[in-house]
Amino acid sequence: MLIAPADGKWRKVGRRSFFNGRTFRFSLLSLLSVAAETPAGVDVSVVDEQIEDIPWDAGVDLVGITCMTALAPRAYEIAAHFRRRGIPVVLGGIHATLCPDEAGQHADAVVVGDAEGIWHRVVADACASGLKKEYRNPTAPSLTNLKPVPRHLLKGDRYATVAAIQATRGCPHTCSFCSVSAFHGGRQRQRPVEDVVHEAETIGSDFFIFVDDNLTADRDYARRLMEAMIPVGKKWITQSTLAVADDPSFVRLAARAGCIGLFVGLETFNGSNLESVDKTFNKVKEYKRAIRLLHDNGIGVEAGIVLGFEGDRPEVFRRTLKMLDDLHIDAVQVSILTPIPGTETYSSTWHRLRDHDWSHYDFHRVVFQPKHMTIDQLQQGHDWITHEFYRPWRIARRFVRHALRPGGPGTIKYLAAINMAYWGRIRTWGIKGKNPAAAKNAGGHVRGLTSLRRLIPRRSWPRVPLRPRGRAG
Ligand code: SF4
Repeated sequence: MLIAPADGKWRKVGRRSFFNGRTFRFSLLSLLSVAAETPAGVDVSVVDEQIEDIPWDAGVDLVGITCMTALAPRAYEIAAHFRRRGIPVVLGGIHATLCPDEAGQHADAVVVGDAEGIWHRVVADACASGLKKEYRNPTAPSLTNLKPVPRHLLKGDRYATVAAIQATRGCPHTCSFCSVSAFHGGRQRQRPVEDVVHEAETIGSDFFIFVDDNLTADRDYARRLMEAMIPVGKKWITQSTLAVADDPSFVRLAARAGCIGLFVGLETFNGSNLESVDKTFNKVKEYKRAIRLLHDNGIGVEAGIVLGFEGDRPEVFRRTLKMLDDLHIDAVQVSILTPIPGTETYSSTWHRLRDHDWSHYDFHRVVFQPKHMTIDQLQQGHDWITHEFYRPWRIARRFVRHALRPGGPGTIKYLAAINMAYWGRIRTWGIKGKNPAAAKNAGGHVRGLTSLRRLIPRRSWPRVPLRPRGRAG
């Protein structure tokens, strides 16, 4: 049994309405890839705690659990349950790969890195009651001839879509806060274009998601893939850097290949912040031109924004919101800088960590002391900007703008789905916050007057009586 854990507000979110979380659920390719690698003759099931309960009493011989850092405590809880029952547990995924020693304390075996090339050995050793403590590939496995993904193992009606495809793994960049670069070592591997196109043709849906970390990183590969995707005639969305818009002909090609939306990590509108995290290929002054080019080609833009970088002060929240408005961003995912163990950001900020509970490392809670703000200011500002961006009047304005763009009427349902999903989540979770700079300014008014009085010679101060004359006391 392969398990994807979920905790707190995320548990069973896929059972709720479309506006309350299901939109954010799409195919669990991580576990499905492991399921695909399971040797013939072994029954395999997949349990996703975001949409269903774990069958705690299931009669299984081996449990595999994947997790990111925020879900590690829940993964350990689940592991402990099955180990108490005498069922061996294997941990894998990003957190187990970046913290194998810690994961090893909670499992019978840990898979470090990709499962391909290893999982069949894990299963064989488990069958022979001879699990080793750790499994890792000597080199990252090739993505050629991957086995078909068994999507039928998922309860498809509880997801926005189970049509997800991965063409590449990893990213050649090494942004210091990113667990992708820590996991893949700043390299990208690619599947043969014909394998990807075959999967897109046979996926059984006219819309799918390329769940790649950075699909367009290798422009030659991406160009070949786009050209081959044109005859497939399906719509898709993916993740990319904004560097994709350096080449207008490539953007036009991507649009012809079916691209209707990109998630791009803008991260910040402060160049020195980008320098501090090795993301200097993002050029803030290019954002406007690049986003307009994407929009002109019918490609919507969801921006990833991170708050809490070294250069961020309380004024960052209003400025960021204004930039998002000015750039006509279609949707935004606002995160708090989170030092994920194994990343360079973790090494450089560990002495400022104020919270060591991994379950809080979910990118929406402050776990370290920011440089120029209090922890509360960063949290409040993050909540405020999230709430403000998804105010109904802003969503309505985005609908109108989108409808007027090339291809807009045909894709507005996707814009509506994502905006309404964020709006629903904000309402359900009660996210509101307040702008720390606004509070500061309110106080600053008085401070400003005080400073002004300091600058003006005392004898020039206006003579304003403090009490009515003629009264004692
Ligand atoms: S470009 Fe994106 S995926 Fe690549 S390392 Fe930077 S943040 Fe991570």
